[in-house]
Amino acid sequence: MHRNKIIAMSATIILGLGSLLAVPSAYAESLQDMKDKKITIQEKRTDVQTNINETETKIKNLQSQQLTVEEQLDQLEKNMTANANKIIEKTAEINKTNAEIESLKAEIVVLKDRIAKRNELLKERAVSYQEGGGNLNYLEVLLGASSFSEFIDRVSAVATIVEADQDIIKQHEQDKKSLEEAQSAVEKKKSDLEKMLAELTNIKQQLQVQKNQQEVLLAELHKQKEHAEHDIVGFEEEAANLKAQETAVAQAIQLEQKRLADMEAARKKAAAEKAAAAAAAKKKQAAISSSGSGSGSSSGSSSSSSSNAAVSAPAVSSGTFNRPSAGYVSSGFGGRWGKSHNGIDIAASGTVPVVATADGVVIRAYTSSSYGNVVMVSHSINGQTFTSLYAHLNSMSVSAGQVVSKGQQVGYMGNTGHSYGQHLHFELHKGAWNAAKSNAVNPLNYLSM
Ligand SMILES: [Zn+2]
Repeated sequence: MHRNKIIAMSATIILGLGSLLAVPSAYAESLQDMKDKKITIQEKRTDVQTNINETETKIKNLQSQQLTVEEQLDQLEKNMTANANKIIEKTAEINKTNAEIESLKAEIVVLKDRIAKRNELLKERAVSYQEGGGNLNYLEVLLGASSFSEFIDRVSAVATIVEADQDIIKQHEQDKKSLEEAQSAVEKKKSDLEKMLAELTNIKQQLQVQKNQQEVLLAELHKQKEHAEHDIVGFEEEAANLKAQETAVAQAIQLEQKRLADMEAARKKAAAEKAAAAAAAKKKQAAISSSGSGSGSSSGSSSSSSSNAAVSAPAVSSGTFNRPSAGYVSSGFGGRWGKSHNGIDIAASGTVPVVATADGVVIRAYTSSSYGNVVMVSHSINGQTFTSLYAHLNSMSVSAGQVVSKGQQVGYMGNTGHSYGQHLHFELHKGAWNAAKSNAVNPLNYLSM
């Protein structure tokens, strides 16, 4: 209990000395903890590199899939062209067949006319036989002969007429038969062609459907590739941040080692002085009585405020974390526009200084497409690593690797990157920063605005 109190007290003294000696108190974390942190960051970097490699492989796969789909589309285009040519060919054949049908119809008209004329002829002949009176038949014609020679003539005539009539009837039948055959042949040809055309049209539709599907697939592959490329940019940013973070932690370890060495030297010096004092006191033991003296000192933080176009930096608070700038909280931590807001927005107009929220080491000071000018600082507070982030800065006044103390200016509030109007986007992470921002905490739980 007593020991703990002393440690707590000395920690307080060191915290106070920290800002005076420009040796940040942030390195109270044990060396082992920081070394562990370094290993964790190295592992995280390996993970990120794996992500980059996997995403690159994904992009390559998507590219080869895209090529395959493009080849398939080419083949489809060829098939469609061949199909279109076949349709043209079949349509031409159908037109030709239609012409054949038309000429056949004309032939049928001619043939019908001929048949009609023959019927007329047969009818006339029948009438001429009947002119002799009543129902004259061939037999009556023969019996009506007045002489044998006339009878012979009549027999021959009747035979000729009968034969001629039979020829006409035969011709009739033949004409009719060939006509029917021609007609059915042409009609079959036409129906075959129409079937083929229907098939080709069907194929055309199928090819069109396939083409549409392939085009949708190609668009989807394009989109996936774009996403993967976007991911890689994010991963590369994360990799750069982790690398810088590792460097910052390594520097924090060095500072901590120096601080421990200084502490040890101071302790030895104090012990030697105490021993000397004790020896001196022993010598004076014979003296009357000793008087003790107590001393107390208190220091208050002074703050000055002047309202100008130039806004003053926030006063350095006695808390662990300082407010990072003047202004009001325009957007809190948590859900916003369906996305989670991993920090708070502080808005103010004019030239507004932005300061480090606690002692620490600058991890990165760079320009990002989303954050704009952004400063990241690593803090080590009572054995816990924190990472603070200051985004959309108009300008930055620190650089990576620099040691900063609480309240020290890191830049000016601005409107750079993905920002609408001047404001500071401030993030606080309990632990290391990562792209998923899984360590983000609500800064308002750690500092008062
Ligand atoms: Zn924000």
